[in-house]
Amino acid sequence: MVTTHNLGFPRMGRKRELKFALEKYWKKAISAETLLEIATDLRTQHWQDQLMLDWIPVGDFSLYDHVLDTSFMLGNIPARVSALPSNEIDSYFRVARGRSVTDDSACSCVHASEMTKWFDTNYHFIVPEFEKNTQFSLNPNRLLQQIKQAQQIHFQVKPIILGPVTYLSLGKPKDGVDRLDLLDDLLGVYAQLFHELEKLGIQWVQIDEPILVMELTQEWKHALRKTYYQLQVSPISLLLTTYFGQLQDNLQLACELPVNGLHLDAVMAKDEIAKVIDWLPNHKILSLGVINGRNVWKTDLNETLDWLEPIHARLGDRLWLAPSCSLLHVPVDLSSEQRLDTDVQSWLAFAVQKLNEIEVLAKALNDGRSSVAEILLENRTAVISRKQSNRVHQAAVKERVLRINDAMGTRQSPYHQRTLVQRKKFQLPLFPTTTIGSFPQTQEIRQARQDFRQSKLSEQEYHQAMQKEIEICVREQEALELDVLVHGEPERNDMVEYFSEQLAGYAFTQFGWVQSYGSRCVKPPIIYGDVLHTQAITTEWIQYAQSLTSKPMKGMLTGPVTMLNWSFVRDDQSRAETCLQLALAIRDEVLALEKAGVGIIQIDEAALREGLPLRKLQWNTYLDWAIRAFRVTANGVKDITQIHTHMCYSEFNDIMAAIAKMDADVITIETSRSNMELLDVFDQFHYPNEIGPGVYDIHSPNIPSVDSIIDLMQKAAQRIPTQRLWVNPDCGLKTRNWEEVKPALRNMVAASRYLSSTYGQGQLNLTC
Ligand code: GLN
Ligand code: ZN
Repeated sequence: MVTTHNLGFPRMGRKRELKFALEKYWKKAISAETLLEIATDLRTQHWQDQLMLDWIPVGDFSLYDHVLDTSFMLGNIPARVSALPSNEIDSYFRVARGRSVTDDSACSCVHASEMTKWFDTNYHFIVPEFEKNTQFSLNPNRLLQQIKQAQQIHFQVKPIILGPVTYLSLGKPKDGVDRLDLLDDLLGVYAQLFHELEKLGIQWVQIDEPILVMELTQEWKHALRKTYYQLQVSPISLLLTTYFGQLQDNLQLACELPVNGLHLDAVMAKDEIAKVIDWLPNHKILSLGVINGRNVWKTDLNETLDWLEPIHARLGDRLWLAPSCSLLHVPVDLSSEQRLDTDVQSWLAFAVQKLNEIEVLAKALNDGRSSVAEILLENRTAVISRKQSNRVHQAAVKERVLRINDAMGTRQSPYHQRTLVQRKKFQLPLFPTTTIGSFPQTQEIRQARQDFRQSKLSEQEYHQAMQKEIEICVREQEALELDVLVHGEPERNDMVEYFSEQLAGYAFTQFGWVQSYGSRCVKPPIIYGDVLHTQAITTEWIQYAQSLTSKPMKGMLTGPVTMLNWSFVRDDQSRAETCLQLALAIRDEVLALEKAGVGIIQIDEAALREGLPLRKLQWNTYLDWAIRAFRVTANGVKDITQIHTHMCYSEFNDIMAAIAKMDADVITIETSRSNMELLDVFDQFHYPNEIGPGVYDIHSPNIPSVDSIIDLMQKAAQRIPTQRLWVNPDCGLKTRNWEEVKPALRNMVAASRYLSSTYGQGQLNLTC
């Protein structure tokens, strides 16, 4: 019999119950007990959704992030937090967000830990911190309680644990510690944990070591060997789990490690499976992740069975089936959707449907295809309908992509020439201040948008409501004396969805939320067909905002690579091809803004880095087409039009050369949480254009002081000529409230004024 299991279920709930509970808790509208009760109910619901499986997962749920949970389970809490007398939940949120519900005053806040993306997904985890004197100690209660809860629902419970080597590799060495020096101590704690799990009758543990799909040095390979040789004395069966890519040169290592089973991403590493079967000792089970946990498309079940049947014949009971990775990265349940086009809906599968697919595949293997004949026929019909649909293919779009040439992606003059024209036009001070685009999305804004969607507001009323919000935002920015203003993006629910709603080729869900970080979710739109710009999207709003002020108003767009990386994309053509279609569509919008008299245009590429392949060898291929797409989008404008781009992440160093090739006049980046460490790259790399390193951590409710901003900018000024520096927050302000934003920006402007007076007139003259 083929065994079925899952690598993780979405946490938020069908209606994002966890998000709302967390946010209420942070606002003190509910108690910690209520929050934990809601979490318990959600887990129960999730396990009930997975009862068709032989093994249900536990340990995949988290109040904020599973890597942070792992840090707490291993007793690895940053000293600045553990030094404060506190209970666990307060410490937990202090590490996650810089404050707990008991921290009312700014002085009791601490630095939150850094947050970074989980491999090549849009999920962000809290980066563990390591120091030379880091000592681990087991704190397993959260997991043990959840196991007990799960055991009441299903008799086969499989805990999911982040493997020790991946855990160390994801963390940040704070004081130059070699993370692998901590491995021995850490392994002792894992051994203790397995002992505790055994006491609860646990038989299988899924131990995730996704670093096996990355390039590994000898030291890290050795660490994997050492870890699993030491842990093999454990009484529990270990299912060593990788996902998100191929094993490549780690294939033999993965097959040989002394564990009881191996899970592979059989979507991305499909070509490797035959080799793995040859290598895998025959006492080990092989779990194949045959259902794509990263996209929303129905699996072609018949084709998958064609491939699986011979494997099943060879492996028999040793074959397990699962999604390729945790289903954290897909929405919960397609049956919640009421408004999708019926064709498109028939092509899709969300988490619950994907688990049903696993069940069908297992049944077809166990009992023969005839036992699920009807479902297989229905699946075949859907797959063919998608392939042949003329809603998917538009000849004119494909032809326009073929006609793209280099000139379309090249500015008329190089930066050093066009900057002179732009400086003359905009007359900005040294250290000009700006923001990244969005301002607080207040309850009124959300309400108006919802009322409009539900036809409670007419189009005209909605327009007026948004204009009012834009006006408030412009007036506030004028009062704050910011230099380059924005309209505040009140009309945008989400930076990708907003644009995609007005492009052909996209479909939208009502409840297709996916966790991005903490309580933040995104609802990626679905690119199902060729993408086309049919009308100007933003010009009217930006022109209106500009009409309210004599200061320059920045037009705000989302770039093609971010549109791609934050959408669910087609699996029937290359990402590069889809990206160029998006580039042409956004280029049309850039040119429409320029024509409408907008002098500064920001094209956000928040997610450019996320698309990087996990292996460095493949980076250049990706960067080549991604940067080409950005250039096609941005560089058709005149010299006098100033192009900004924005990226929200701190690991920047390794792609700086590619980013410089985008040739944006100004780039704003996230830096404040890393204390400008990332700017070290400017010691080696001479970034030719203007840059605004973020000085306000918008992921935290804390307000940066004038001194802290000056300090950060002084660090930046040591590496970058002051006439090319801007002062801005790390990212958009939509998740913050005005009470935080106003003082933070006031401090930012004060810091900028101080800096421009200290760095002085002489430098200003240089640039004029
Ligand atoms: N312009 C967007 C905003 O300010 C950028 C968001 C982002 O980079 N994630 O909200
Ligand atoms: Zn950002």
